[in-house]
Amino acid sequence: MCHCMTCRHIHGSAFGSYAIYEHANVEWSGSTRAWESSALGRRHFCPVCGSVAFMEYTDRTEIDLPLGSFDRTGIFEPTYELWCCHREPWLPHGVRTEFVEDRD
Ligand SMILES: [Zn+2]
Repeated sequence: MCHCMTCRHIHGSAFGSYAIYEHANVEWSGSTRAWESSALGRRHFCPVCGSVAFMEYTDRTEIDLPLGSFDRTGIFEPTYELWCCHREPWLPHGVRTEFVEDRD
């Protein structure tokens, strides 16, 4: 789960939640458009409907797929939370590992 301000804004929600894969293990069809959300992050979205597609990094081989993009629910459960400095105070604490900013 990510509570950063960019995830909050692009999802229109209190946080973003993702399944993380090695980029080489993900196969795509169709096209996306992308924008630079940070010096190292690229956010891809559907050019037709604007839905968030995935996030990739210039310094990591992982790709972050938003849980809301999967057809099935309940197949992934987040194991940690990032950018808890922007976390909504009404969310429960101590459920998973919490990082004040990005993970180490
Ligand atoms: Zn984020």
